[in-house]
Amino acid sequence: MENCIFVVMETADGAVKNVGFEMLTPAKEIAAAKNLKTVAVLIGSGLDDAAKAAGNYGADAVITVDDNAYKAYASDEYAAVLAALAEKYQPEAIFIGATPNGKDLAPRVAAKLGAGCASDVTAMKLNNEGKIAFTCPVFGGTILAENVVESCPVMATVRGGAFKKAEPEERSVEVVCEAEISPEAEDIKTKIVDAVKEISEAVNLEDADVIVAGGRGMGSAENFALVKELADLLGGVVGATRAPIESGWISRAHQIGQSGKIVAPKLYIACGISGATQHVTGMVGSDYIVAINKDEDAPIFDVANVGIVGNVMQVIPEMIEEIKKMRA
Ligand SMILES: Cc1cc2nc3c(=O)[nH]c(=O)nc-3n(C[C@H](O)[C@H](O)[C@H](O)COP(=O)(O)OP(=O)(O)OC[C@H]3O[C@@H](n4cnc5c(N)ncnc54)[C@H](O)[C@@H]3O)c2cc1C
Repeated sequence: MENCIFVVMETADGAVKNVGFEMLTPAKEIAAAKNLKTVAVLIGSGLDDAAKAAGNYGADAVITVDDNAYKAYASDEYAAVLAALAEKYQPEAIFIGATPNGKDLAPRVAAKLGAGCASDVTAMKLNNEGKIAFTCPVFGGTILAENVVESCPVMATVRGGAFKKAEPEERSVEVVCEAEISPEAEDIKTKIVDAVKEISEAVNLEDADVIVAGGRGMGSAENFALVKELADLLGGVVGATRAPIESGWISRAHQIGQSGKIVAPKLYIACGISGATQHVTGMVGSDYIVAINKDEDAPIFDVANVGIVGNVMQVIPEMIEEIKKMRA
C-alpha cells in the first residue's frame, strides 16, 4: 500500500462524518494525477460499516484500527496510532477533517512526523511543480493564502463542506485491520476523566439537506423567527449571513460563508440576503437555491435557481401557509 494518500475519517457512533467522504474527492483527483492510492484510515471501535462506506464513497483501500479502547477520541492515543500508521505506510499526504478533534489531532501527528500542516483548507490543486497547493482562509477569512507544504508527508486539515462527496456505489475494497498498532506507555500523557457533550449550541449546517438562511433583510431578531419556522417545517437547519449575527439576532454557530461554514445542501433558501461574495462562496455549492429579495438586482439572484422578488415578511408566511396546506 505504498505510494498512497491517507484520508483520516472521523467517526461518531460508528458512522463516518461527512467531511471524511468529502476529502476523498480531492484526494482521488490528486492520487490519479500522481499515480497514488487513496487510503481511508479509521481509528475507533465497531468500524465495519464505516470501512464499507469508505470504500463505497471511493477509497481504494481502508486501514482500520478497531478497538474498544478507541471508542472515544483521545489525543495522545489517536496521535500515536496515526503517526505509527504513517511511519509504516509512508503516505505522501495525510488529510484530516478540520473538526474540533481533527484540529487537535493533526498538529500532534505533524509534530511526531516532523511534517508541515496546512490548516482549514477550502480548496487544493496540483501546481506546476506537481506539489499540492492548499487554499487556506487566514486572518479571520480576510485573506485566502495559498500554501505549499514542503515535507513528506504533506499534511492538511480540510474544512467540512469545502468539497462535494461522491455518489456512493456498492464496491468491495481491501480492508487492512491493524490490530498490532497501539500507543507506547510513554505516548500517553493525558487521561480523559469526563466528556461534556455540549457546551455551546450545536448547529450541524454541514450535513443538512435543507438550509433556510436569513440576512439583514429580515429586519429584526423577532422577524428572524420566521426563518426558523420555515426551516423547521422543511426539516432543515437555520443559516445566516454575518450581518444578523453582528446585530445579535442569532448566534455565530449559524454563519455561512468565507469566515463561517461552507455548506452544500440539496435546498438552500436565502431570505433577505444580498449575495455578497463572502456569503456566496459558502453556499454556491448547494444543489438548488431559492432566493427571496425585494431588490430585483440583488446579486443573490445570479446564483439562484428560483428568484422571488418580494418582501420576506410577506413571502415567507405565504410559503409556510402553502406548505402546511399541501401537507394537510
Ligand atoms: C473578511 C470578511 C469576511 C466575511 N465573511 C462573511 C461570511 O462568512 N458570511 C457572510 O454572510 N458575510 C461575510 N462577510 C460580510 C459580507 O461582506 C456581507 O456584508 C454580508 O454577507 C451581507 O449580509 P446580508 O446579505 O445579510 O446583508 P446586506 O448586504 O445588507 O443585504 C440585505 C439584503 O436584504 C434585502 N432586503 C432588505 N429588506 C428586505 C425585505 N423586507 N424583504 C426582502 N429583501 C429585503 C436587501 O435588498 C439586500 O439585498 C464578510 C466580510 C468580510 C470583510
